Amino acid sequence: MQVHGTDLIVVGEENRGEGALPGTARVEGDALITTEIRLPLAAYSADCMLIYFASKEKPLAALAHAGWRGTLGGIGAKVARYLQVHYGADPGQLVAALSPAVCRECYEIDGKTAELFRAGGWDNPAYLEPSAAGSFKLDLGAVNREQLTGAGIRKENIRWSGLCTSCREDLFYSYRRDRGVTGRMIGFIAIREQQGGRTS
Ligand SMILES: [Zn+2]
Repeated sequence: MQVHGTDLIVVGEENRGEGALPGTARVEGDALITTEIRLPLAAYSADCMLIYFASKEKPLAALAHAGWRGTLGGIGAKVARYLQVHYGADPGQLVAALSPAVCRECYEIDGKTAELFRAGGWDNPAYLEPSAAGSFKLDLGAVNREQLTGAGIRKENIRWSGLCTSCREDLFYSYRRDRGVTGRMIGFIAIREQQGGRTS
């Protein structure tokens, strides 16, 4: 297994099944990348945003987990740049999808965390807004989308479900809504077999 940087993990056939059961992950990371055909990448979430990546021109797939820490660290942009630098993936040919996640109305963060976002340049009501005394509403999706476009991914190539895991109790588990006692969703992505030189 190769480990690059602090968050990104490139996985191959030899990693198949790793992490599927507790204690079987050999390294921890916030984003998985593969060029292997039919090797699914998977991640758990219950409010955090998952970001799925694929390329229109190359067999590449990536899956990032963006809670507030990953979002603050620009995990999505990091993945896009990594794909560009290490695999020559043109960001203009990358497609990204943002999973259902906790919406800004449901996502209150404390002043200390908000300060980190302010310092990171997100001091704008489009992303971060004061709510009740001392707390702030954070728009995970808006910040992540902005980071992806900043990394060169075209707006029309970014899909954002817009569904909130906390509002939609009928559809999703939500760590916040259920006060920690809840299930997890699993998100996965895989490269299908190559068809006529293209993959999807
Ligand atoms: Zn909501």
